[in-house]
Amino acid sequence: NQPLNFKQELTCVFGQPVAENPTQCMMEAAYNACGLEWRYLTIEVAPENLAQAVGGLRAMGFRGANLTIPHKVEVIQYLDGISDAAAMMGAVNCIVCKDDQLLGENTDGKGFVQSLKEVTDPAGKKIVMFGAGGAARAIGVETALAGAAEITIVNRSTERGEALAQLLREKTSVPTTFTKWDGDYTLADDVDVVINATSIGLYPDVDAVFPLDFASLKSNMIVSDVIPNPPETHLLREAAKAGCTTLDGLGMLVNQGVIGFQLWTGVDPDPKVMRAALEEVFGVE
Ligand code: NDP
Repeated sequence: NQPLNFKQELTCVFGQPVAENPTQCMMEAAYNACGLEWRYLTIEVAPENLAQAVGGLRAMGFRGANLTIPHKVEVIQYLDGISDAAAMMGAVNCIVCKDDQLLGENTDGKGFVQSLKEVTDPAGKKIVMFGAGGAARAIGVETALAGAAEITIVNRSTERGEALAQLLREKTSVPTTFTKWDGDYTLADDVDVVINATSIGLYPDVDAVFPLDFASLKSNMIVSDVIPNPPETHLLREAAKAGCTTLDGLGMLVNQGVIGFQLWTGVDPDPKVMRAALEEVFGVE
């Protein structure tokens, strides 16, 4: 007879606002499918309470945590160490609690690359990425580390776009240029992978028009979007019409969750269970 155990292992996400973050449903589905007595809590933490909230992870023996807006940069000062890739990006989205130490990792870009690898290897590819915020920094660093041949950053604000291009040039050996996004962007014929890493199309702005000359899409291009909700965006609809291979934001979301799950539990979850849980909440057919 097993002794009774009412104490579950705890993981969570801290953010503000956080109520619409769907990570809980995919992580708890995966815990259940693996027979793990673990929980994943969605916790609203205001910026001024972040230090105490991280102290709470230590005090209550949490096994891991994710960070979302606005905590990914500020959290670093409260951790015992961070990975090289997270240091390069200057952002942490995943804390692993081990032996009384809180270690920071960034799984966003790794999740994206994992999702991309399901359709192509980024090594040797010419990449155009829209956006230069947190998601773009993570994706830029990881696609560069995965051996991209060339990266063009296209961003509305020059300051953030230039800063990301400079970071990639200095920290990786990948040739990276910045182009200011002004009107509909025209893709060069030899682009292999197109990435939307902006928030254009995110709920509730679901009818947002993506500023791209869609006639410049070629059927051999891979077009990916980070927007998880709704997973089908204007960009992906147009790319599918042009015959491109498309990757939605659920792929990145699932794969960054898979990496966090492995770091916390040491167990490999089933990505299909996680995607199915997300598709159910987002009403994907
Ligand atoms: P940030 O606020 O850090 O960056 C937003 C980026 O979008 C900036 O480059 C900004 O440009 C650009 N942008 C926003 N609105 C417009 C617009 N109307 N026209 C042109 N550019 C615009 O956000 P994050 O990088 O943290 O997040 C971006 C998106 O990524 C979010 O929608 C988030 O949901 C998604 N995401 C998805 C994940 C997943 O697993 N699928 C994981 C993490 C994030 P500018 O510099 O000019 O302001």
